[in-house]
Amino acid sequence: MKKIVCVVVGLLLFACLAQAQDRVEQWKGKTVMVFTPHPDDDVFGCGGTLSLLAKNGNKIIIVIYTNDNKGSFDLEMTSERLARIRKAEQEAAMAVIGVPKENIIWMGYEDGELEYAEPKALCGQATKLIRQYRPDVVFSVDPGEWYERWHKSDHRMGGFNTADAIRAAEFHLYYPDHLLVDGLKPYKVPLMMFYYAATEANYWVDISSVVDQKIKAITQHVSQFEPSINKYRSDWDPKDLANLVEYLKGRGTKKDGKVVEAFRRATGFNSQ
Ligand SMILES: [Zn+2]
Repeated sequence: MKKIVCVVVGLLLFACLAQAQDRVEQWKGKTVMVFTPHPDDDVFGCGGTLSLLAKNGNKIIIVIYTNDNKGSFDLEMTSERLARIRKAEQEAAMAVIGVPKENIIWMGYEDGELEYAEPKALCGQATKLIRQYRPDVVFSVDPGEWYERWHKSDHRMGGFNTADAIRAAEFHLYYPDHLLVDGLKPYKVPLMMFYYAATEANYWVDISSVVDQKIKAITQHVSQFEPSINKYRSDWDPKDLANLVEYLKGRGTKKDGKVVEAFRRATGFNSQ
């Protein structure tokens, strides 16, 4: 009888250990791909988790759908200049997170116009990148949340397109030229983590140890915030920066007394 109890306890411990090691925070040596509509959603949505993954030596590839070249109230700002500014800010933010700029891929679509892109080509681009990098996990925007559903078309399109590309990537008959011309074999993404999840969140990552790093990364996006979004300036007035940091500290999602990032975790065709 004692033997049976020991075996059961042992199996339970093993299962717990296996589950703990399966947590993304514990991952090492994996390939992580992030598909983000704009160059700031990655850090807002999963910057803490990415910091933890970067610290553990995982390879992180950031794919950015748009160049974010519209969101400024400064009447003297041009789209070309804003795209350059946003690119530099993204590189600075990712440097804080621990992702080198060589790992950032820009698709270059116009800000706010991702839904006007040719759908088959857009999906094919993302599919090809997935087949090239063969990630262990793909992060993207959860397209089903209320803000994404009704207000943010790039977020909606980025989320749906990424999900479509994940499906296409595993069947060789989607975009067959990838295999026939480029020699890219089909690939099944084992895990999806959709950020900006709220109502359907089912997975939370404790980012308490990297909150300051995440906030520092967010503040690299100077032109996304007042006063720079109204009248561009490349640096922070220390007082404005302090106010933003204070605001961001109070805004983090909390669960069980810890600062977390919430995800809708899915495997296969959005099963859990
Ligand atoms: Zn965005």
